[in-house]
Amino acid sequence: MFLSDFEYFAPKEAGEAFALIGRLGSNARVLAGGTDLLLMMKEKMIEPQYLIDINAVPEFQGISDLPGKGAVIGAATKISEVEYSPLVKEKYFALHQAAGELGSVQVRTMATMGGNSCHASPAAETPTPLVALGAKVVLASATGERQLPLEEFILGNRKTGLGEGELLTKFILPEPAPRSASRYGYIGLRGAMEIDAVNMAVNLVLETDGRTVKDLRLVMGSVSPRPLISVEVPSILVGKQFDDALVEEAAAAACGEAKPISDIRASAEYRREVVAVLARRLLHEAFNAAQEV
Ligand SMILES: Cc1cc2nc3c(=O)[nH]c(=O)nc-3n(C[C@H](O)[C@H](O)[C@H](O)COP(=O)(O)OP(=O)(O)OC[C@H]3O[C@@H](n4cnc5c(N)ncnc54)[C@H](O)[C@@H]3O)c2cc1C
Repeated sequence: MFLSDFEYFAPKEAGEAFALIGRLGSNARVLAGGTDLLLMMKEKMIEPQYLIDINAVPEFQGISDLPGKGAVIGAATKISEVEYSPLVKEKYFALHQAAGELGSVQVRTMATMGGNSCHASPAAETPTPLVALGAKVVLASATGERQLPLEEFILGNRKTGLGEGELLTKFILPEPAPRSASRYGYIGLRGAMEIDAVNMAVNLVLETDGRTVKDLRLVMGSVSPRPLISVEVPSILVGKQFDDALVEEAAAAACGEAKPISDIRASAEYRREVVAVLARRLLHEAFNAAQEV
């Protein structure tokens, strides 16, 4: 479990970071919190020659409110900052919940938002609510930048759309719609730090009557190689008055859409049952919360 030799760089501004990653190419890796990267290096799954530590770059840090337009979260923002942000709690409750469930206090203090999406683990905590909330990622290099919906950035287990010489610099979240609420939940095998067997986020918008579903996104994690956006649940609920019978139908539909595998953490069968339980629970929680907005 020893690290192989590497050369360490700590750029102080974005331009310097882009120049380094462009020059050092595929022999370099970005170091954010290191909570995934250093384990992979210790286990010799990867042996980068260069590490580019992005923690001292101010442009990649922090959470900014864009009143009426949404919010921006820098890629190197720590998970604990998101967990304790009053802005995130008020506007993006599902992300607040997920940040508070990631690992332990020690892990959340080191780990970053960008690292959680770039590592692209199917069981990752924050991509699920980010996709439900409609987040986009900004990918930038020495030659320019582009934006992608997060669901198009995460391509599979440890696969992303990050191009050569690119860094993920920030997440852009849209302003929540009026009468909307988001909720996140997960099931693991024990109450303490563990990897999620299933996680899920719901983002629900109501019409002015306070009962009819205007818009809905339900996203599942850990039941497919990448965050899975339900197609059937919105088709069952949108345009209809929210009621228990429709929620039951929606929960069964989500269960049918999930494509889980059996592994050391749970069987595929158990995961499918959990999808139905979480869908039922989170749809009710988000509906009740949206009625109170
Ligand atoms: C004990 C323990 C418990 C954990 N529990 C959980 C959990 O409950 N839920 C969960 O989701 N995760 C968990 N993790 C995994 C890990 O903490 C998270 O995935 C974390 O968010 C990774 O962020 P990081 O900043 O540490 O990334 P790093 O380890 O620094 O980087 C991860 C990968 O992303 C790349 N990268 C990082 N930032 C960027 C960027 N801005 N642009 C381009 N590439 C980038 C790196 O090069 C590397 O390939 C746990 C880890 C440990 C050690």
